[in-house]
Amino acid sequence: MTVLPLAQPCELPTPILRVSDLRQWVYCPRVVWWTHVCPVGKVESFKMRQGLAKERRQQRLQKRRTLRAFGWRHGHIEANVQLFSPELGLSGKLDMLLHTGVQRFPIEIKFTHGPARLNHRLQLAGYALLLEEYYGIAVPHGYVVRLPDDTVDQIPIDGPLRDLTWKTMQALRNTIRHERMPPASTLPARCIDCEYRHFCGDV
Ligand code: SF4
Repeated sequence: MTVLPLAQPCELPTPILRVSDLRQWVYCPRVVWWTHVCPVGKVESFKMRQGLAKERRQQRLQKRRTLRAFGWRHGHIEANVQLFSPELGLSGKLDMLLHTGVQRFPIEIKFTHGPARLNHRLQLAGYALLLEEYYGIAVPHGYVVRLPDDTVDQIPIDGPLRDLTWKTMQALRNTIRHERMPPASTLPARCIDCEYRHFCGDV
């Protein structure tokens, strides 16, 4: 008699993440709960609505920024580029994509002062992984345009940042798969104008 091996238990599907989830995880890990595990409608404050309208206006203007601002003479810039990789289980809409020869560089527009923070760098690395997957090229760096300072920062997509990006994606997926609510942000000030403040009963 032939004994067939027992069927392997079904593995939980791999959740598709958005590049913005990487940024949100740094802001507050609980956001992933309200967006992926137990989705709720966001409550946008007046201040946030005003801020978003201003950001959209500024973003439209930034799309006209020339190659020279990034130190390139040849190529072109494409705005609002939708990216998706089933292999990475990752999707996102990139603010701008710089094409020069066979090279591609992600560009993100930010509205905060000072050097690019970890959340910006993780987001840029997420887009770099998507571009590498799609074009089959290396993406050694990307750019962050800081509107308030009117500066462009070149951000290396180096080994430690890549490691952290993979680990963050793993942490996000574990949270979604096991439906474990992460603790509230350790910085209560972040809860004040958070879209999910009405749903977090413990803050
Ligand atoms: S209200 Fe506070 S704890 Fe809840 S998601 Fe927002 S920042 Fe995180």
